[in-house]
Amino acid sequence: MTLLKSAPPLSQDVDLSKTYDAVVVGSGAAGGMAAHVLTSQGMDVLMLEAGKKLPIEQELRSMQWPYDHPRRGDAPPGYHSLSFNEYNIRTPPYAKGSTFKHVMSYVGGWGGSDYVKNILVDEKDHPYTGTKYAWVRARALGGKTNIWGRLALRLSDYDFKAKTHDGYGDDWPISYADIEPYYDRVDRYLGISGVKENLPHLPDSLFQRPNKLTFGEVKLREGLKKMGRVLTPYRAGVTTDGLKHNKYRSKCYGRGACDRRPGGCDIHAAFDSPTGLIYPAMDTGHLTIRTNSIAHEVLVDKNTGKARGIGFIDSATRKSYEAKAKVVIVAASTLESARLLLLSRSPQHPNGIGNSSGHVGHNFCEHVMGPGVSGLVKELVGKPPTLDDGRPGGFYIPRFRNLKDRQPGFVRGYGFEGGGGFSIFPGNAMGTPGFGAQFKKDVRDHAGAFIGMGGFGEVLARYENYMDLDPDEKDAWGIPTLRFHYQFGDNERKMCEDMVAAGREMFEEAGIEVVGTDSQMLTEGWSIHELGTARMGNDPKTSVVNQFQQSHDVKNLFVVDGSTHVSASCQNPTWTIMALAWRSCEYLASEFKKGNV
Ligand SMILES: Cc1cc2nc3c(=O)[nH]c(=O)nc-3n(C[C@H](O)[C@H](O)[C@H](O)COP(=O)(O)OP(=O)(O)OC[C@H]3O[C@@H](n4cnc5c(N)ncnc54)[C@H](O)[C@@H]3O)c2cc1C
Ligand code: SF4
Repeated sequence: MTLLKSAPPLSQDVDLSKTYDAVVVGSGAAGGMAAHVLTSQGMDVLMLEAGKKLPIEQELRSMQWPYDHPRRGDAPPGYHSLSFNEYNIRTPPYAKGSTFKHVMSYVGGWGGSDYVKNILVDEKDHPYTGTKYAWVRARALGGKTNIWGRLALRLSDYDFKAKTHDGYGDDWPISYADIEPYYDRVDRYLGISGVKENLPHLPDSLFQRPNKLTFGEVKLREGLKKMGRVLTPYRAGVTTDGLKHNKYRSKCYGRGACDRRPGGCDIHAAFDSPTGLIYPAMDTGHLTIRTNSIAHEVLVDKNTGKARGIGFIDSATRKSYEAKAKVVIVAASTLESARLLLLSRSPQHPNGIGNSSGHVGHNFCEHVMGPGVSGLVKELVGKPPTLDDGRPGGFYIPRFRNLKDRQPGFVRGYGFEGGGGFSIFPGNAMGTPGFGAQFKKDVRDHAGAFIGMGGFGEVLARYENYMDLDPDEKDAWGIPTLRFHYQFGDNERKMCEDMVAAGREMFEEAGIEVVGTDSQMLTEGWSIHELGTARMGNDPKTSVVNQFQQSHDVKNLFVVDGSTHVSASCQNPTWTIMALAWRSCEYLASEFKKGNV
């Protein structure tokens, strides 16, 4: 049994008369990494986080069995999670006029909303407008990393140099060689489990012990080999061997009940920003944190036009404050960061700070998901139960389209996430016909025999997919909200059609009976992998930040989250967000020491 150290105490009594070396807005993957790197370089950092610091272990209760909870994990009466139909039939703001006291995004509906009800935002307080969009936000210390799905993948030069490869969009101003050492540092510092596959389009990490594949997953892996495709154990941002340098995290014990709802590991084997980055940064003595602090403006020095700090509102008292710093680092997550830049209008920066190009809010990209396939592994029917879900994930099938081939209908590619075997609740129970003893036997006999997977595809970055500020709608604190102008295009639709056909083909090749396919594209935003809106580039006329995520316009302003990604690739973004933030903050610290920012 590992004895974990509890979190260092947080005080709201922060010295705001002081000018900090840097102020960081947001405490998720990006803000946490900025705090880690800058404090380790000796800089004095103030972190402003809009959400609360929650007693997170009490929220997550990873080992609580459904029968130990009065409502089997459901939130108390008065809470409602938005459904697919609501996102598509209604228009945002989705919670407007709702008779429910609290409205959460769809993630609350993934069996266990009681465990995320204080982590996700209440849509009533946080409206947005425009085109349909399933926006999942977590306002709490650590942001979405408290409940993320842990799939931790690298990008390759098929992504960084995608335009060179297929002619669409723009290349990134960096290549894989520039970021590889930082991916390595993230792997070593935070821990990642997986298996080396030597694929040029999905570079390997420095892996700790992998999770075991189940029988059905091995069968699929063997089948795919015949097609020249790969199935690899879920590359989880989880320490499976433990991390000697971090006293706040335990290694993964694959305890069995862990897989029952979105993310969340109460022993912190899965990476989360507070235990992985923020508490160790506090231990350096260089990090001060103020929670409940909603940034609404990057403040500007009238004489120089440079950033001088952050204007923020205390979410509880609604009082306004200013935090002063020599460098401002925006890490509020892709869409909130764009919102903050656009909100920061001044005579020096009339379109919003860092927005002389007019590209802030534009070139939005993400992942499209929904299509998938489920199958039955007949050899497993009637076999005794095994502990299959006591692990941080199932499997991943990396992209196989448009690498050496050229698909006629679409550019770029997609990967599949999936899993097979027994889980805490037999998902087949709902669809099994019958009743009584025979019904129970059928459910038990088949419970571990199913395998399923769903595609995650690259949504192309397009200038015309954008977000701006709504001139009329405001959040509960009177701050203008985002308005979406975004929809999937033909490339995404064609790609999704291909996902269904390819998924079926792969199951059939592996000798797995296809029992269902899903061709429905889920609502824009559903993947929770929002990217773009403040992209990096070499040309200040068409990009917002340079390769070090430093504003072209304001040299002491950095934006270190997914908003700076030039294209979405089809790999999950969080490991890349952190590797880039590490690289940029190291650059920033060295420029700071030289007096160049
Ligand atoms: C259920 C779920 C599953 C996921 N699965 C995966 C996965 O498997 N793999 C993967 O790579 N990614 C996954 N993600 C996405 C991943 O969580 C994000 O990519 C990552 O958290 C982004 O980090 P961030 O720091 O940019 O944003 P966040 O983690 O959202 O952190 C931003 C922080 O900024 C704060 N903030 C916002 N606005 C303000 C403001 N105005 N003032 C002050 N603070 C502010 C927020 O409260 C928040 O704490 C998943 C997300 C969810 C919710
Ligand atoms: S499987 Fe491992 S990482 Fe996941 S919740 Fe359980 S202990 Fe944590």
